[in-house]
Amino acid sequence: MTDRLYYTDSFLHEFEARVLATVDAAEGISVTLDRSAFYPTSGGQVFDTGWLEVVGDASGPARLRVQDVTEDEQTGDVLHLIECESSALKAGDVVRGLIDADRRRDHMQQHSGQHVLSAAFEKLYDMATVSFHMGDERCTIDLATESVSPKQLRAAERLANEVIAEDRPVEIRFATPEEARTMGVRKIPPAEREKLRLIDIHDFDLNACGGTHVGSTGQIGSILLRKTEKVKQGVRVEFVCGLRAVGTARRDFEALTEGATLFSTHIWEVPQQIRKAQEEMRAAQKAQHKLLEEVAELQGVSLLQSAEERGGQKLVVQYFSDRDLNFIKMLAQKVTKAGQAVALLACGGAQPSLVFAQTSGLPGDMGGLMKQTVQALGTRGGGNRDMAQGGAPDGDRAESAIADAAKLVAQ
Ligand SMILES: [Zn+2]
Repeated sequence: MTDRLYYTDSFLHEFEARVLATVDAAEGISVTLDRSAFYPTSGGQVFDTGWLEVVGDASGPARLRVQDVTEDEQTGDVLHLIECESSALKAGDVVRGLIDADRRRDHMQQHSGQHVLSAAFEKLYDMATVSFHMGDERCTIDLATESVSPKQLRAAERLANEVIAEDRPVEIRFATPEEARTMGVRKIPPAEREKLRLIDIHDFDLNACGGTHVGSTGQIGSILLRKTEKVKQGVRVEFVCGLRAVGTARRDFEALTEGATLFSTHIWEVPQQIRKAQEEMRAAQKAQHKLLEEVAELQGVSLLQSAEERGGQKLVVQYFSDRDLNFIKMLAQKVTKAGQAVALLACGGAQPSLVFAQTSGLPGDMGGLMKQTVQALGTRGGGNRDMAQGGAPDGDRAESAIADAAKLVAQ
């Protein structure tokens, strides 16, 4: 079993170890060392990255990139995935491991921040954390509760940041499960283990955990709570700590500033401005609809007047290159209501379409005529006896399709 050096020292960024075994993997080799400071993905925390250097290589140390770190749950070994030729490392080699310190610090800030935040929710509202997830950008905890109010969110964020400002010591301790039960550990894992590793945030939280943690709460920097979301097991709370919190706040600020500039206003006025713009847009849409209806009404009357009459009914055949389906539907209704008429209308534009309509009670079958038309065009459409609509491949073919349909109506 790999001796896990991070267990007792989260700040160890360099170490020497011996290669025990290498196995060919899909993209390189999987290396087992006798000891390692690399953290493998587990317990909600993601893996460290870094490098392995071969010690004593005459041609100078080759730096091999550690891409991924996992644990073999059966043997307890830490597996380092390295993208390289299988001959680059062999059992017995002595290597120097180097941890990517920026990534490690980020993970420590997120994970220790999570402990502080979970303890804050538990202390304030008795809300237990049932799971923790650390992503590349955001972290989440799931709280066993029905709901979290904005006020509770603010209070937990406030308490967590106070604990950070107090810079309380964070210590790693070891205890048996029996001892842990008498010590008031927040959550004892169900797995049978001889010794539990405990993370002790002085006078605030004591929790069993295998992760890498800060030396004192001040190193977390800050906690910023984000959105909440209802999930199966409770409420998911999104958060970011340390430099991620600063980066997230900066991005938020820049997005808000861009929005505020577009509205020529202060960032805090942006929601109000958006509401105002939405109202104006709704009013404009309503006015536009009303105008179009009036245009359709007038155009309907005019088309009807100039249309030829066949056997007591008018036949209106018209193509519009710059109108849409909604308009020609509206127009078809106006035409067929204003007199005894059949309207064969088409439009071009982004969605070339056809609308066939007749005054209710006339003997034609618009649905049947449309079926025949779209079959010839290779498109889809249909409807009932009095009203039908369909698609056309383009404006030109929509225009010729209504001319062809008009010949059928004439028969
Ligand atoms: Zn933990």
